[in-house]
Amino acid sequence: MLVVMDRGATPEQVDKVVKIIESRGMTARPIPGGDRVSIGILNNKGPVDPALFLGLSGVKEAIPVTRPYKLVSREVQPDDTLISVGNVTIGNGHLTLMAGPCAIENETQAMTIAEKVKEAGGKIFRGGAFKPRTSPYTFQGLGEKGLQILAKIRETFDMPVVTEVMDTDTFDLVEAYADILQIGTRNMQNYSLLKRAGQSGRPVMLKRGMSATLDEWLMAAEYIMSEGNSQVMLCERGVRTFVRHSRNTLDLSAVPVIMRESHLPIIVDPSHAAGYRDQVIPLSRASVAVGAHGLIVEVHHKPDEALSDGAQSLYPEQFEALAKWAGSVHALLKE
Ligand code: PEP
Ligand code: MN
Repeated sequence: MLVVMDRGATPEQVDKVVKIIESRGMTARPIPGGDRVSIGILNNKGPVDPALFLGLSGVKEAIPVTRPYKLVSREVQPDDTLISVGNVTIGNGHLTLMAGPCAIENETQAMTIAEKVKEAGGKIFRGGAFKPRTSPYTFQGLGEKGLQILAKIRETFDMPVVTEVMDTDTFDLVEAYADILQIGTRNMQNYSLLKRAGQSGRPVMLKRGMSATLDEWLMAAEYIMSEGNSQVMLCERGVRTFVRHSRNTLDLSAVPVIMRESHLPIIVDPSHAAGYRDQVIPLSRASVAVGAHGLIVEVHHKPDEALSDGAQSLYPEQFEALAKWAGSVHALLKE
């Protein structure tokens, strides 16, 4: 249930609704909108009677929420969420390019790539310090040293950084360094990690599980929001299918459906979807055309020597071309 207040409702009137909800053992979550406040009701055991609220002054209407997810849904919040990170805004009307290597390998590698990403128009630098690898024998990331290199990149190039947090054990550490916390595909349904992310003051980028339905993905985002963190963006990164010509299959139809169902920004990762460099630029153009709010792309100056995901990493010049294409397609959408 969503209690929608009148435009001019006073804080006292909002408070009264909150108290009634709480007195019945449910959770009230006021959601400030463009011109009015709505109050979402969480933790209700069954349907809530709208009559509880309809006679109160300041209450416009009480509408049942038909979706299983609430805080992430457009029913509860019609206005798009915009997320600010440093001087970058992510969400409706903006196209945010995030790029960098799969993993931070050493300072020279990371700084070289960061300089190129910045020159080409990248707004946020990506790079893993804790890497979830399929094999325990491959490079697992530099850990805290990698985070320190990311901090240096933020200072040197004035670019916020996004990096993956893999578990609750290392959460405090990663949170101290990252501007955006990435939750990877393998952890989309790691509920203790999602809850911890919900208690963070940092924006979170939640990647779609490799076999997750949109409902499961939105429910995972709901875990984060239900703990109080409203700065959540979603990232489509391809799903597992039978095909062999790409690592995963980029599900671009997810973008308009997510935009219909949710107010959260949606980013596309064509690199992990494709697995091969030559597909990344065409998929990026398509992602922008379908309406994505941003792209996260892997870039490496020596992809043949990369310690992870070299085959899907763009050369810096290719990222420069991608940034131009993406900008032109985005401009067309605005016409
Ligand atoms: C990554 O972005 O480096 C990564 C591991 O992505 P995913 O979780 O989508 O596989
Ligand atoms: Mn990668």
